Amino acid sequence: MVLTSAQLWFFIALAALVIWFRMRKKPLPPPVSRGKQIALKGEKIQAWLTPTMPLACLLEDGKSFGPAFQNKEPPRLPHGPGCQCKLLPDYRRADEVFLLKEKQLPSQECDLGLLSHHELRYYRYCLIAAHAEASEELQQEYRELALGVDVAETFAQRVQAHIQQ
Ligand SMILES: [Zn+2]
Repeated sequence: MVLTSAQLWFFIALAALVIWFRMRKKPLPPPVSRGKQIALKGEKIQAWLTPTMPLACLLEDGKSFGPAFQNKEPPRLPHGPGCQCKLLPDYRRADEVFLLKEKQLPSQECDLGLLSHHELRYYRYCLIAAHAEASEELQQEYRELALGVDVAETFAQRVQAHIQQ
């Protein structure tokens, strides 16, 4: 039997239809896999980091509040004169709760520009260590914490120069 071109196309189309139909019948993967579900729901304080911020803002920056967190109730905002803190929704998926995904933590804007999570933490520790309202003990504690954060030497110098202005 010699196939005409029209017949050939008919068979190709038929084969394509069969393949498409079989693929369609395959069960779809579940829309949300385990670990992607929201495990913790709450709110997080985000302070504006700058040397003139009240000490209370610097100390509470990044703290999470909610029924599933250690701290249940967020504080009343503002913390005091000059406070620019915001309460942002804080949702964490199950896999984020158990695995600390440092690399995926978002960068954040402050008076030094957009900083990575590590840079931001270093800057916050240095601001507390140099804060006029902080006790000597607290300053010492945060000076040591700052030393433990891995940031570039140039960034550390930039922060020190900025704080001493
Ligand atoms: Zn505040």
